[in-house]
Amino acid sequence: MEKIKMTTPLVEMDGDEMTRILWKMIKDELLLPYIDLKTEYYDLGLAHRDETLDQVTIDSAEATKKYGVAVKCATITPNADRMTEYNLKEMWKSPNGTIRAALDGTVFRTPIVVKGIEPCVRNWEKPITLARHAYGDVYKNTEIKVPGAGKAELVFTAEDGTTIRETIHDFKGSGILQGIHNTDESITSFAKACFNYALDTKQDLWFATKDTISKKYDHNFKDIFQEIYDTEYKDKFEAAGIEYFYTLIDDAVARVMKAKGGFIWACKNYDGDVMSDMVSSAFGSLAMMTSVLVSPSGVYEYEAAHGTVQRHYYKHLKGEETSTNSVATIFAWTGALRKRGELDNNPELVTFADKLESATIRTIESGKMTKDLALITSLQNVTVLNSENFIKAIKAEYEAI
Ligand code: NAP
Ligand code: MG
Repeated sequence: MEKIKMTTPLVEMDGDEMTRILWKMIKDELLLPYIDLKTEYYDLGLAHRDETLDQVTIDSAEATKKYGVAVKCATITPNADRMTEYNLKEMWKSPNGTIRAALDGTVFRTPIVVKGIEPCVRNWEKPITLARHAYGDVYKNTEIKVPGAGKAELVFTAEDGTTIRETIHDFKGSGILQGIHNTDESITSFAKACFNYALDTKQDLWFATKDTISKKYDHNFKDIFQEIYDTEYKDKFEAAGIEYFYTLIDDAVARVMKAKGGFIWACKNYDGDVMSDMVSSAFGSLAMMTSVLVSPSGVYEYEAAHGTVQRHYYKHLKGEETSTNSVATIFAWTGALRKRGELDNNPELVTFADKLESATIRTIESGKMTKDLALITSLQNVTVLNSENFIKAIKAEYEAI
């Protein structure tokens, strides 16, 4: 069979530990035999980030802006332990943070739903995609532990020296104080990324804040979303037959629990932090969660939501067998290949991505899976496969379609 041709390269960001091992297996078994794979390769493995003083991460983000689509392997975010383990020159920042900042992007996380791995919430039939605003609020706060009685004020000094001043509280005794902020620019980027992604995936978009209590701060989020929707997206949404729905955050939480799924839930930073962990664990497994970073200008970076699966990697290094789930990493590749195919008008590439995804799902639904899924599946007669044999089983399923 002739291999599928590509016209534009994907930006390929290699990573660390067990996911780096899976990365190569996926390429060798599931991609290279079928596609004339064109990638611009960036090694974001920690050793190479250290060698290049992290320039490789910046270069890979720039390449993503240039080509429009990237696929990324999980990477180590260094901490004190990693400093010694890898003998690092510096405690390099999280690559995901660097790439997100360079692309000004929003992260959308979607569970991969298969029969036999049922969500804890019975009525969730379709995936719920969570979009988290990844800038500001409590994550960029300034805090004071108030030692005793005194007056707390909120003061803004404009460039021309004029000030706006509000009393926060007249403390009678000790307490706590916190200052948070956001910018219209960042909220606008977030809103656009959400509206674009809803159109792209033909799903309704939900957004919620606490604007009844926070009449300026949260209300500003609501207003920016509404204004952008009305001026730039209303017609497109109506044409696509999808809806933008705003409600209060507590109402949204209640409705999500009763919904069937199949929509995008946009959340402020803290709500997204908390709710993405709830939604992903309710859907079953972190290893079945995909993630895509979308910039307001329409640049896409696909990856698995989980980390480098360090514990499995150490077993692998000792020569022990591992049963690590490669599904989310496979879907990162298929997501990127499908998007590349759509952008380049390359239907063979889109069909390949669809086919590889169904082969992956069918493999699990036929009872062949990795250990993490075997522990939670409702299927009987399960065969637990090791990391490599699971990928080979998907290959056999792909060839049989
Ligand atoms: P992790 O890699 O997500 O793994 C945590 C645990 O979850 C694993 O030990 C394993 O449980 C289970 N698990 C996760 N993915 C799995 C998979 N594909 N198949 C089977 N089991 C899976 O998180 P971590 O161990 O806390 O972090 C390791 C490294 O990843 C850290 O250096 C961190 O900085 C990095 N990280 C990177 C990203 C990213 O690049 N996007 C995200 C998060 C973390 P059992 O051990 O019980 O089998
Ligand atoms: Mg969290």
